[in-house]
Amino acid sequence: MKHITEMSKDDLKGIKLIVLDVDGVLVKRGTKIKQKGNLTTLETKKIANKQIEQIKQLSKKGFHININSGRGLYMLQEMFREVLEFVSLTYENGSATWFNGKIIQHINSFNFLKNVIPKLKRIKHKNIKGFEPKEFIITIHCTNRVKAIESVIAKEKELYYIWNGEAYDIGVKNKQLKSIGLIKLISVLGLKRKNVLVIGDNYNDREMMSVGKIAVTADKKRVTGDFYVELKGKKLPADILMARILKIK
Ligand SMILES: [Mg+2]
Repeated sequence: MKHITEMSKDDLKGIKLIVLDVDGVLVKRGTKIKQKGNLTTLETKKIANKQIEQIKQLSKKGFHININSGRGLYMLQEMFREVLEFVSLTYENGSATWFNGKIIQHINSFNFLKNVIPKLKRIKHKNIKGFEPKEFIITIHCTNRVKAIESVIAKEKELYYIWNGEAYDIGVKNKQLKSIGLIKLISVLGLKRKNVLVIGDNYNDREMMSVGKIAVTADKKRVTGDFYVELKGKKLPADILMARILKIK
């Protein structure tokens, strides 16, 4: 694995699509959520002005930028409001993509999840902070792991759960993956896998990081890649990556 400063112009040959994960890459990790009865309080993060400029510049250079996140569309649209003209948004772990105001749905999870949601809602545990509003996957924020959630999902053969240190993402095995959303987007854009560079930092990024030509990891302990960027320090990994691409391209 090479450090990002070793990325050369030659490495970028043929790259047309840059895929950016959000949490831990474009913004710091951590979602503030509180739920009391029917009242949910959820913090909306904004991307920094510098990243807005970087995305615009990459777009000017001919790159398509895809934001690929476990978050919901309503949230991503708010976060990326200033650059919606320049990006597509693949959301809820590859379930669908928003592009130029249109929604392309990649998977129908309704029948897979409808019976498990009430079972999960019945679980009462001090670690559970709240259910993040989602359309296609289930995300439960917790202060720590909750065995009861894991055993409900373990009984569902078609479902997976990913514990990322702050929340459980629950979805359909081999169907609700960021990689599936990315592969569908590549064909919508008329591109090939060799045209793709991906940056991610977490367990739900693993499959999508092996889709393209280049993978950049923002957390070597969780996911591997061809290049790495430090998670620590003031600058966010996406900032460092975009600066590097703009410098060499
Ligand atoms: Mg992430």
